[in-house]
Amino acid sequence: MNGLPSESQQVPGQRRVMIVTYGCQMNVFDSHRMAQVLLRDGYVETMEPAEADVIIFNTCSVRDKPEKKVLGSLSRLLPLKEIKPVLFGVAGCVAQQHGQALLDKVPYLDFVVGPDNIAQLPQIVADARHGSRTARADWMDRHNYDFIPLDPAVEPGPTAFLTIIKGCDNFCSYCVVPYVRGREVSKPLELTLREVGMLVDAGVSEVTLLGQNVNSWGRGLPGEPTFPDLLEAVSAVPGLKRLRFVTSHPADASDRLLGLFGHLPNLAEYLHLPLQAGSDDVLARMRRKYDSAQYLDRIRTVRRACPDIALSTDIIVGFPGETRQDFERTLAVVREVDYDLMYSFKYSPRPGTRAAGWVDDVPEAEKAARLAELQSMQDEITRRRMQRFLGRTEEVLVEGPSKSSRKGAAFEIMGRTRTNYIVNFCVDGATIPAPGELVQVRIDKILAHCLKGVPVG
Ligand code: SAM
Ligand code: SF4
Repeated sequence: MNGLPSESQQVPGQRRVMIVTYGCQMNVFDSHRMAQVLLRDGYVETMEPAEADVIIFNTCSVRDKPEKKVLGSLSRLLPLKEIKPVLFGVAGCVAQQHGQALLDKVPYLDFVVGPDNIAQLPQIVADARHGSRTARADWMDRHNYDFIPLDPAVEPGPTAFLTIIKGCDNFCSYCVVPYVRGREVSKPLELTLREVGMLVDAGVSEVTLLGQNVNSWGRGLPGEPTFPDLLEAVSAVPGLKRLRFVTSHPADASDRLLGLFGHLPNLAEYLHLPLQAGSDDVLARMRRKYDSAQYLDRIRTVRRACPDIALSTDIIVGFPGETRQDFERTLAVVREVDYDLMYSFKYSPRPGTRAAGWVDDVPEAEKAARLAELQSMQDEITRRRMQRFLGRTEEVLVEGPSKSSRKGAAFEIMGRTRTNYIVNFCVDGATIPAPGELVQVRIDKILAHCLKGVPVG
């Protein structure tokens, strides 16, 4: 859902847009921005292709072959064009990467819009409606970058993401992000604080600050403030119950930043710190700017500040030249860190990146086998780590009814611990907590993917 008015609020003749999002949180956030500018232009949202006047695919090109997937999905929707004049658009990294070439190649595509051109979406759609097919994928000026102002009306619910830095300057050798998201630009401190305040006033309890590398926030801003400065300021916004951030580059995770865990009362005890690989050779070829010893030092530092912190990571297996020995180093570091959660991927060459010019020499079957081995090890670690919650009382931020909501006379509520674990708990009809409320829950059961408990106090 993108936060546009629902079907019940529609009036006859109103235009409807369907936005399909593939990929990361950054894309979800961009879909909100697209929804926001179209909302102002009089659109409402639909999730039904048959009802839509405009269908936009917002896609990420970080790992798989999204271009194929998008075109496959659009061609399946093609019969709609015979029934009514529906417009098809592509947005996100794929749009940025291919721009006009995509329009030239796909005759039934009506517009292409890159991440820096979302503000122009209403005009682009209006032009397409009048038969003018447009591809806009130009970068905005890095020094006068214009962030689309946040509209809390399209951020309903108790939790919200807020981009504080766009793009990336790191150029890891496997990664397409700097090419499709552009260079790093930080959102000014005052604007960020104003937006967090707006979100809280609109009823948001938890804000996640978002960026490809939030740790480098502040570079290029007047006075060169740092990310810990920002975190301290945001944490002090009155009424903000929880604060999170993602993603942190380990090379920029300073002692001061890591020391804020366990110190800022509303900074939740959860850190995503992508390792990518455990072998120092592989890390060097990935151009990650740290080795495994430096990474492990960051882990020890944050655990000293906050012993119970939950840690998660990203791992790539089968990077060019990764030997069995290299892979075993990854297993060893993963075992040593003892992560709560892992996102792991088979390496895939991305066009334009440095590594795309190297031989992709780990056979597909070997990549799959390494991924399965790593994931099965992590599953065991996660199962064991979840046991530490048994019998503990946890602060749970209520998100809403659980998937299997009504259980006889009791409602089941879903929320998250500060450590980002999902907790389901039952309450009777008279005492249903509102989304965004903090409830103390005693954990009495550990399931495969979530915790269960009973509210106390
Ligand atoms: N900025 C974050 C960082 O520094 O780790 C994450 C960026 S990326 C959107 C998310 C994850 O996708 C990466 O951490 C990496 O594990 C994975 N990834 C990126 N490029 C990849 C590639 N070519 N093949 C496989 N996985 C990739
Ligand atoms: Fe990609 Fe590296 Fe930037 Fe993360 S830090 S977005 S992996 S280039």
